Amino acid sequence: KTSTKKILITGGAGFIGSHVVRRFVNNYPEYEIYNLDVLTYAGNLENLTDIEQAANYHFLKGDICERSYITDLFETYKFDAVIHLAAESHVDRSITDPFAFVETNVMGTLNLLYAAKQIWGTDTNEKLFYHISTDEVYGTLGETGLFTEETAYDPNSPYSASKASSDHFVRAFGETYNIPYVISNCSNNYGANQFPEKLIPLFINNIINNKPLPVYGDGNYTRDWLYVVDHAVAIDLIFHKGKNKETYNIGGFNEWKNIDLVKLLCKQMDAKLSREEGTSEQLITFVKDRPGHDLRYAIDASKLNKELGWKPSVTFEEGLEKTIDWYLNNEDWLKNVTSGAYQQYYEKQYK
Ligand code: NAD
Repeated sequence: KTSTKKILITGGAGFIGSHVVRRFVNNYPEYEIYNLDVLTYAGNLENLTDIEQAANYHFLKGDICERSYITDLFETYKFDAVIHLAAESHVDRSITDPFAFVETNVMGTLNLLYAAKQIWGTDTNEKLFYHISTDEVYGTLGETGLFTEETAYDPNSPYSASKASSDHFVRAFGETYNIPYVISNCSNNYGANQFPEKLIPLFINNIINNKPLPVYGDGNYTRDWLYVVDHAVAIDLIFHKGKNKETYNIGGFNEWKNIDLVKLLCKQMDAKLSREEGTSEQLITFVKDRPGHDLRYAIDASKLNKELGWKPSVTFEEGLEKTIDWYLNNEDWLKNVTSGAYQQYYEKQYK
C-alpha cells in the first residue's frame, strides 16, 4: 500500500491516536496525514506539539457523529485510507452514559464507513479502512485460556458492546460493499499522554498528590498490558502488511492482577519520589466493584507475531518506568488536564 497518499486518522488527539499520528507523520513524509478529532475531554492537541508544524500533518476539528460533515470531508479530501481510533473509550463512563457510546462508537463508525463507500465505490484498489478495537469485545475469561481471533464476541459493558457493534459494521461493509478493511483488537494500553481517569495515570497522579488509590473489588481482576508505543508499531505493521478482511489481536504477553500491578507501581513511584518503600502502598483502598466487571482478559497475539513478526519492545517494568518518568516530567500537562483548564484553552483556540 505504498502508493497510499492521504490518510485520515480519527481520534488523533487522544491517547493512542497521538502516538499513531506521530509515528505516521515522522516515518512517512510521503503520506499526508489528516487528524480528525472533535477534542472531547480526552482529546488534547498538547499531545502533538512536537509534530504540529510538520509539512505532512493537518488537523481537522470535527465530529464523526455529523454525517453530512463527514461525507463532505471525504468529498473534499478523497482520503485513500482511514485509521479509525476516535471513540468514547472509558468503561466507567459507559456505565453512566451508554448513549454517548452508541452515538460515537457505533453511529460515528457507520458515518465513516458510509462516506468511504460513497467515495471509493467499486474503485477500492489500494484503499483501506483500518478499525482500531479492543479485546473487551470477547467478554471475560476464567483463570485459564486466551482470546484468539476466533473467540466469539461476548461483550459485557456498554463500552465493549458499542465497540463490538462497530467491529461488526466494519466487517459487514467489507462483505456487503467490498470495502477493504482490517480490524485489530488490543489489550489495555499504558504510556505517555493517557488521560488520568484510566488506572495507571490515575494512580500515578494520586500517588503524587497523596490521594487514595481505589482498587475495585478484591483487586484480583486480571488484564494484559501493552506499552502504547508498541501498539503504534503494531498498527503501522498491520496498516502496511495486514491482509484484507483479517482481524489481528494485539497484546503484551503481559498479564497482571490489578493488585500486583498497583503494588509494582507503588514501588516504582516510591523510588522515583525518594519516598520510603511502602509509603505509596498505604494509599491503596478497596472500593465497591464495577457492575458487569470482567474477571480476566488475556490476548493471544501469536498470529501478529508469526505473520507480521511483531513483538513488544519493552518489558512491563521498563514501560512502566518510562511512563512514570513522562508524567513526572510533564506535570503541567497533568495539571492542565486535571484542572480542566485545557478545555478552555481549546475553546479559545478553535472557536
Ligand atoms: P481516548 O479517549 O484517549 O481518545 C479518543 C479520541 O477520540 C479523543 O481525542 C477524542 O477527542 C476523540 N473523539 C471522541 N469522540 C469523537 C467524535 N465524535 N468525533 C471525533 N473525535 C472524537 O481513547 P484511546 O484510549 O486513545 O483509544 C483510542 C481507540 O483505541 C478507541 O477506539 C479505543 O476503543 C481503542 N482501544 C483503546 C485501548 C486502551 O487501552 N486505551 C485498548 C484497545 C483499544
